[in-house]
This record gives sequence, C-alpha cells and structure tokens, in this order.
Amino acid sequence: MDWKNIKASKHTTSRLVMFRYLSRSPLVILTRFTINMEALLSSGIKKAKQIVKQRIEDTEYQTDLTSIQNMAVRSFVKNLMEPAKYLTALEAKGSRRAFTLARCLALPSAELEGKYKNTPFAERLCSCPLREIETIEHMFFTCPLYEAAHKEIIFPLMESIPRRSEGKRLEFLLSDADTKITCQVARFCVMILRLRKLNANQL
Ligand SMILES: [Zn+2]
Repeated sequence: MDWKNIKASKHTTSRLVMFRYLSRSPLVILTRFTINMEALLSSGIKKAKQIVKQRIEDTEYQTDLTSIQNMAVRSFVKNLMEPAKYLTALEAKGSRRAFTLARCLALPSAELEGKYKNTPFAERLCSCPLREIETIEHMFFTCPLYEAAHKEIIFPLMESIPRRSEGKRLEFLLSDADTKITCQVARFCVMILRLRKLNANQL
C-alpha cells in the first residue's frame, strides 16, 4: 500500500498527525489507530485510504474534545476553589464571620429563628416599634434599632445605586465586588450581631 499517497485531512491537527505518522511504518500507524490489518488488506486501495483517513480524524476529534472538556473543567474548578476576596480582605475573625453569615443569609433574625421553631411567617416580628417581620432586608434598610448605623454606613454606600429594590441593594452590598464596601458592610454586620446579643442578654 502506498501510505505516502494518503491525502492529508482538511483539519490542521489531523494533517500534523498524519505527517508525523506517515514517516513511520504501516504497522505503527495501524496499532496507533487500532485499525484491523486484515480488514484493510481485504479492501481496495481507495477504501483502505478512506478507512485510515477517517480513523485518524475520529481519533483526533476525540482527543480535541477531551482537551476542551479538561480545559473547561480546570477553569470551573479554579473558580470554584478560589477563595472569596473578603476571606482575606477582612482580617478580623469577627468581621469575616459576620459578613459570611450575611452572605449566606444566615444572620440571626426572627425570620430565620422562626423557620426552626415553626413560627408562622407573619409572627416572625422584629422587637422594634415598626413591628415588621425581621428579615435581613429589614435590618439592613428600615429597622430603627440600627438607624444610626444606616446613616453612617449603609446609606452612603447606596448612593451609587439609587431607587433599587431592597433585594438588589442587599445583593450589591454583599457582592464582595469592592473591598471598601465589603469592609463597611462587615462593620455593620458586626454591629447587628453585638446589638442582638445585648438584647438577648437583657431578656
Ligand atoms: Zn426592626
């Protein structure tokens, strides 16, 4: 069989592979691409060339596919394994803890505690005079117990995003996109935890 007359594939990768293998013995090529020698010999020259060409293209396609999948997985794992910025930016353990609780929507609140105590949703009220359900949004934006901290910390941070819903504002504050904002929000979360602990001790 005239191996050197096998025309190169239109795919660059396959052309390179064919060039590499055409300089080797036919047996090496057949072994590398697991082509059955007997089947090849029983085919005519035209058919045999087609078989070899097709097998090389199929093999290279699978190799490329695996390589792309590996790249995608590596990129995904890198993003997944990379720690969030705030874990290093917030040096104080208490700040990291408070901000993490807020990011996970796990800051202590009547709404959260009510979930575990099976308290009806409408009865998960804040102790402040507004008598609203104590959600994390309530604590961040409307609760008078934190009014001073709202004015000092939270409201100035939201000047760049006027007229957004509470959900969007909370998402912005906890996004950890800007370390300066993250540090301020962490300060506010620490204050929430301290005040709640103080109130709990007084009961
Ligand atoms: Zn309140």
